[in-house]
Amino acid sequence: MDIYLDIDGTMIHEDLAHVGDKGAAGLADFIIALRPHTTYWLTTHSMDGNPERARSIMKNYLPPELHPDIDRIIPTTWNILKTEGIDWSRDFIWFDNDILPEEWGQFEQGSENQLVIEVNLAANPNQLIELTQEVILHL
Ligand SMILES: [Mg+2]
Repeated sequence: MDIYLDIDGTMIHEDLAHVGDKGAAGLADFIIALRPHTTYWLTTHSMDGNPERARSIMKNYLPPELHPDIDRIIPTTWNILKTEGIDWSRDFIWFDNDILPEEWGQFEQGSENQLVIEVNLAANPNQLIELTQEVILHL
């Protein structure tokens, strides 16, 4: 299964006033659980295909022993819609906190094994823990 990852609001809390500048609960285990899967960045930080900014951001939130897990994540290129960066010839899950109506619309033509999962850390700070246990470890 291919995995596509947003960063802000998906793996890192965005609402600094409420929770501070920190990674989501369970972030390290989430990253470790992705090891069997081909994983891509789908974030504005690397929309030009350069992974360096995404890498340096994420490494702030993970211990050094997990930095190789960040370095293996493959950048995508896209312009307007993140769905441009997805390989629609393959099964995938895309994790994101902010999915545009036009992006949701692309899934009407996708298969049942092409999924987007909306993350809302503000509403559920433990969502990455749940997704690791209930989704990723069952792929
Ligand atoms: Mg985001």
